[in-house]
Amino acid sequence: MTPAPLSQYLRDLIAAEGPLSVARYMQEALLHPAHGYYTRREPFGTDGDFITAPEICQVFGELIGLWSAAVWQQMGSPSRIALVEFGPGRGTLMADALRAVRIVPGFTDAAELHLVEASPRLREVQRAALPDIDVTWHDSPASLPPCPALMIGNEFFDALPIHQLVFLSGTWRERSIGWDRSEDRLAWTQKRAGPELVELVPETAGPPEEGDIFEISTVARTSMAEIARHIRRHGGAGLFIDYGHGRSAFGDTFQAVQCHKPADPLAAPGSADLTAHVDFDALLSGIGAEGCNAFGTVTQGAFLSALGIEHRVEQLQRNATATQAASLRSGARRLIEPAEMGTLFKVIAVAAPGIPELPGFGPPRDRARA
Ligand code: SAH
Repeated sequence: MTPAPLSQYLRDLIAAEGPLSVARYMQEALLHPAHGYYTRREPFGTDGDFITAPEICQVFGELIGLWSAAVWQQMGSPSRIALVEFGPGRGTLMADALRAVRIVPGFTDAAELHLVEASPRLREVQRAALPDIDVTWHDSPASLPPCPALMIGNEFFDALPIHQLVFLSGTWRERSIGWDRSEDRLAWTQKRAGPELVELVPETAGPPEEGDIFEISTVARTSMAEIARHIRRHGGAGLFIDYGHGRSAFGDTFQAVQCHKPADPLAAPGSADLTAHVDFDALLSGIGAEGCNAFGTVTQGAFLSALGIEHRVEQLQRNATATQAASLRSGARRLIEPAEMGTLFKVIAVAAPGIPELPGFGPPRDRARA
């Protein structure tokens, strides 16, 4: 059987450069300009490979929109604010958010919309979901305008590439992906780990045992640092929701999902979504290091309840048909129930030093020195 184009490309890349880090593999499999998963496939929804919170229930995006408007008011309602979303997928969250904030006087006029999205195909989908709205797309936060910003991102960080270190015979090696010639397919191997990665394994993770894996997303850390730097310089706040662990720990969370089922991450690059749990500890420490206030983690269930999800659902049900009302209730339940998405998904936030509190959170974990 001839391997698919992306597998052939990876085989040649491995022949030229040696085994690939998991990070490089994720980057190619997700965002290769011709064959990458996000560039080629329509991953979201019941017919796709996975479903995300905004696709489950409109209340998710609405509450996040209202959160943004509340923070804008807390900031003294500045006349210009960049509303920024990272990895907007189908644009559903933003469409729901913008609809909800129409009730907040002045916010829609003040807000200009900026989307950070790597996939040209998804940019088109977002364009269609947000008709009649001025949108500027960005490859990274570096090109955002120099004004206060409210930033949001759902399931953005889990899509960013990770490195995997594996502890073998007393040293950290980098888990990597080579080509098995006899089987003619991608296969796990390992290679020397760069000292700049090894030094990022925190002592709090405990002494490693043979075979332990530690995951590091340098891209996620850099993105969060850029976000915090922008917010410290220009003002504003950011809210990020994702699944992952609250404390840095050993473990292999690299996973592939296809048609709502776990798949072998090396079996069909470009055809399955690849993700890893987010190391919130690492992101929160990065926010503190950039001189911003860091909030969380709080669970998605606790956060949405604090923002009044039950009340919002009740309100919407009044004008809904019986079927719509039932779907609203079951969608909202799925977002907050501990056995569903309520506990695995967590929320963190970053705020400029002048913003000591944010809706839905307790006091900051790392408070910036003002
Ligand atoms: N927020 C959406 C989609 C989550 S999927 C939702 O909740 O439904 C991840 C999103 O991040 C996709 O839009 C994907 O194209 C985008 N993405 C992945 N890697 C990226 C990167 N390095 N830079 C910008 N966007 C990226």
